[in-house]
Amino acid sequence: MKKKILITGGAGFLGSHLCERLLNEGNEVVCLDNYFTGQKQNISHLLSNPYFELIRHDVTTPFFIEVDEIYNLACPASPIHYQYNPIKTIKTSVMGAINMLGLAKRIKAKILQSSTSEVYGDPEVHPQVESYWGHVNPIGTRACYDEGKRCAETLFINYYKQNEVRIKIMRIFNTYGPRMHPNDGRVVSNFIVQALKSEDITIYGTGNQTRSFCYVSDLIDGMIKLMNTGDDFIGPINIGNPNEFTIMELAKKVIEITGSKSKISYNPLPSDDPTQRQPNITLAKEKLNWQPKINLEEGLINTIDYFKTVI
Ligand code: NAD
Ligand code: UDP
Repeated sequence: MKKKILITGGAGFLGSHLCERLLNEGNEVVCLDNYFTGQKQNISHLLSNPYFELIRHDVTTPFFIEVDEIYNLACPASPIHYQYNPIKTIKTSVMGAINMLGLAKRIKAKILQSSTSEVYGDPEVHPQVESYWGHVNPIGTRACYDEGKRCAETLFINYYKQNEVRIKIMRIFNTYGPRMHPNDGRVVSNFIVQALKSEDITIYGTGNQTRSFCYVSDLIDGMIKLMNTGDDFIGPINIGNPNEFTIMELAKKVIEITGSKSKISYNPLPSDDPTQRQPNITLAKEKLNWQPKINLEEGLINTIDYFKTVI
């Protein structure tokens, strides 16, 4: 049955893929964005679809609409962007969650929160399981994002308990793919752009810190599967690729695939940069029958092909 679905942050990297997928599945999609880090270009190919609607709006102010489901993705995800105006980042996560949960309550919509592996901070438990409470510096440079997202989870769980709002909390681990902004500042886009321009590959710190990179199509599969679970399953649930790589390994892979002449340069490590990150996805396998299909090599090839067209 055709559903009417609201996607906040729909013009961003993940949001644009989600809009596209849900439209392809025969739904009506309303994309809401303030274009802070998102771009019209990401969804311009969808504008001719009569079941797609684009609205400029900031989630820190209330919004009213009748929909069946809400995916709440609005929030800058890259450290350079979320640290640009930290107070605004907190407002987006917290007031955005309050406004969207209030809407979900009023119209009885199901609502999914795009939370993050950052709720685990610089984790002392490895790989990270959903039951781990995390290790976050509340006054550090990443706190505007981490604590904002943690507070949003608290809001979600309490709207569920107090008001019976149908919620889903998804903890997303590093995701990459086509439509990342070339100036996004995240490691995969930075390295690919640098390699394609034969500029130095900027490793922050030693490059021994690790991340686990999930390709965007896998992530979107997991997100939609989570939304479609029964009302008794609310998460939080990790969605990410458990294959863990050092940042140095990533740099070498990007250089190898692009055949670039770029050299590696070492830059200072940003404060509170997590040393390791890997999702435990046992719960996703069990509850969603989900696991990633695209390995890093394949995902990087697709992403590099995309960046060749935009640089
Ligand atoms: P993105 O920056 O490309 O997309 C975020 C979108 O939200 C942008 O289109 C931006 O313009 C919009 N936005 C920001 N503030 C807004 C506001 N106040 N009102 C309305 N729109 C606003 O980032 P992304 O990678 O697509 O991330 C999407 C969501 O997934 C975010 O909530 C992010 O925290 C979460 N997430 C992403 C990753 C990842 O690796 N990509 C990892 C963990 C969590
Ligand atoms: N990083 C890097 N060079 C870059 C960008 C990022 O070495 O040009 C490192 C960064 O310090 C971190 C990792 O890559 O250790 C992932 O950074 P990103 O900003 O992509 O995401 P997050 O830290 O939020 O996982």
